[in-house]
Amino acid sequence: MKTQNYINSEFVNPIQDNWLENYNPAIGEIYGQIPNSTKEDVEKAYEAAEKAFPSWSNTSLEERSKILSKIADLILEKLDFLATAESKDNGKPISLAKQVDIPRAASNFQFFANAITQFSSEAHESVGLGAVNFTLRQPIGVVGCISPWNLPLYLFTWKIAPAIASGNCVVAKPSEITPMTAYLLGEICNEAGLPKGVLNIVHGLGTTTGQAIVEHPNIKAISFTGGTKTGAHIAKVAAPMFKKLSLELGGKNPNIIFADCDYDKMLATTIRSSFANQGQICLCGSRILVEETIYEKFKKDFIQKVSELKVGNPSDSETNIGALVSKQHLEKVKNYIDIVAQEGGEILFGGNRVTVKDCENGYYLQPTIIEVTNNDCRLNQEEIFGPVVTIMSFKTDKEALTLANDTKYGLSAILWTNKLNRTMQFSKQLQTGIVWVNTWMLRDLRTPFGGAKESGVGREGGFEALRFFTEPKNICIQY
Ligand code: NAD
Repeated sequence: MKTQNYINSEFVNPIQDNWLENYNPAIGEIYGQIPNSTKEDVEKAYEAAEKAFPSWSNTSLEERSKILSKIADLILEKLDFLATAESKDNGKPISLAKQVDIPRAASNFQFFANAITQFSSEAHESVGLGAVNFTLRQPIGVVGCISPWNLPLYLFTWKIAPAIASGNCVVAKPSEITPMTAYLLGEICNEAGLPKGVLNIVHGLGTTTGQAIVEHPNIKAISFTGGTKTGAHIAKVAAPMFKKLSLELGGKNPNIIFADCDYDKMLATTIRSSFANQGQICLCGSRILVEETIYEKFKKDFIQKVSELKVGNPSDSETNIGALVSKQHLEKVKNYIDIVAQEGGEILFGGNRVTVKDCENGYYLQPTIIEVTNNDCRLNQEEIFGPVVTIMSFKTDKEALTLANDTKYGLSAILWTNKLNRTMQFSKQLQTGIVWVNTWMLRDLRTPFGGAKESGVGREGGFEALRFFTEPKNICIQY
């Protein structure tokens, strides 16, 4: 099957008729082709977006809101179909795609359909000077949205929905590794009546198609989610062009467990925060830090629970852990497992590839627990982004906090405790954009979302996203 670019509401082949292969990770086989788009394709997408902008930016908020709501409804109507496509393209369990990825993609549109009708700007009266200032929040124009492979439609729409809700037109690129649901979104947008050129989707490699979006002189803002290295490169290209940038990057998140926590809830949640989506969620708690007094008990119980997880065909509803997204990514994760002894760690569970019946060439790996004794090792400093966690013990609050912050990343942290003082001390001192206390992945879409340190620049979510996708202009009137 061939996916196509979506430009000006039409499905088109890449200008140079050049194609990339698309793999099904569950069986390790090619199942389709996607456009290997060039600068010329991006230019076509830009032209369509630019042409659509005057009309779309003047479309009433109610009308924009209605169209976004319709897109949300259609995504929910096609939930099973989209979840099946997502699971096949990415390797994630179908149950996860049905419960998380696709409902959240619909929520993204519904949320910003509502939010745009509530978004306001500021006014400042300059008392004593006889003047009043008011701020207009105007759409930027044509903006670029670039997303990764781990939560394909979920993260793609998390950018597109606020961008178009606030009146921009978009040139978007999904990951070349998981293009399918982005392709299917085009049809949904047509069905919902999104005007031509408001959203344009180009497929292709990061280094060519993505780069062309970032380098385009008239694409004035880039919202990017992906790896820290790519984010740094994008910043280097975009900064001298004075583009607005939102960068949502990698993480190495601590999961800090104190003896006074609600143990059963912590254990069940820690299984999810470690291994959901094969550990390929930027928010997964990949460094588990456990208070010494419960360390041995936790270790035993955690290993037992993890051993019960079923690695299997993603389309099987019983599967807990599906396939990793690609052969290359499986090798990257496996390389970390290969250096465990050298880095002073010990594998407590897992570490091996799994052969799944009828899917012998799929990219499966056991959920893996590694015990480490210091935080300096590569296993605790580098983002592995797979079904691999490390565990280590700590004695005091101070030690736990030092360990938690001892990384270049600062995306999120998970804290398990029932002590109020401790909760407040950690909440204030953890160097991350998000802290979850006694929970994980509870997402209220109004809250600011993003990372500190090398986990990113800027915040998405709620009005933060609408602020990013608009340019404030202050008007000062003296009377
Ligand atoms: P990646 O950086 O390799 O790619 C992300 C996207 O950028 C892809 O669409 C890719 O084609 C594109 N890209 C690559 N090079 C580019 C370039 N030079 N110019 C423009 N675009 C380019 O990341 P990935 O491997 O797809 O995703 C995994 C990473 O994403 C992990 O580090 C993970 O932590 C991070 N992530 C972060 C968040 C967050 O919200 N902070 C969410 C999900 C994933």
